[in-house]
Amino acid sequence: MRYDSDNIFAKILRGEIPSFKVYEDDKTLCFMDIMPRVPGHCLVIPKTSCVNILDATPAQLSACMETVNKVANGAMKAFDADGITLQQFSEAAGGQEVFHLHFHILPRHEGQKVGPHGVMGDMDEIKANGEKLTAALG
Ligand code: AMP
Repeated sequence: MRYDSDNIFAKILRGEIPSFKVYEDDKTLCFMDIMPRVPGHCLVIPKTSCVNILDATPAQLSACMETVNKVANGAMKAFDADGITLQQFSEAAGGQEVFHLHFHILPRHEGQKVGPHGVMGDMDEIKANGEKLTAALG
């Protein structure tokens, strides 16, 4: 699949559409998912073009995993979580909807169910959770 530079995450990277930024370094960006399946659901993406796990380079993957590790530990603290679910979907048949590589980080609590897919969250709540997470990253 060819990378489409008009995908929504490419627009977020270029600052053309807003996002609730949690963390960034020179290679990756983490921002809140606006349809959170649990409170604190966020996404980690590489800053360079890449469709999904199938065309990702080792450098893109390792940069993303470094950020996932950092943010996941922050999310454990920020949300007093019991665990983390890490998700990645590749190609439409694999459940991918936005075609720029991304990893979902879901802070989880014992016995907590994951909410439905595709339901817009409360923006004030998402913003507050993003700020909590950023603060926990110190
Ligand atoms: P998927 O490609 O299936 O892994 O899912 C794409 C994810 O991106 C979904 O969880 C959406 O809720 C999320 N999403 C879509 N548009 C935005 C946006 N503008 N800002 C933040 N998250 C988004």
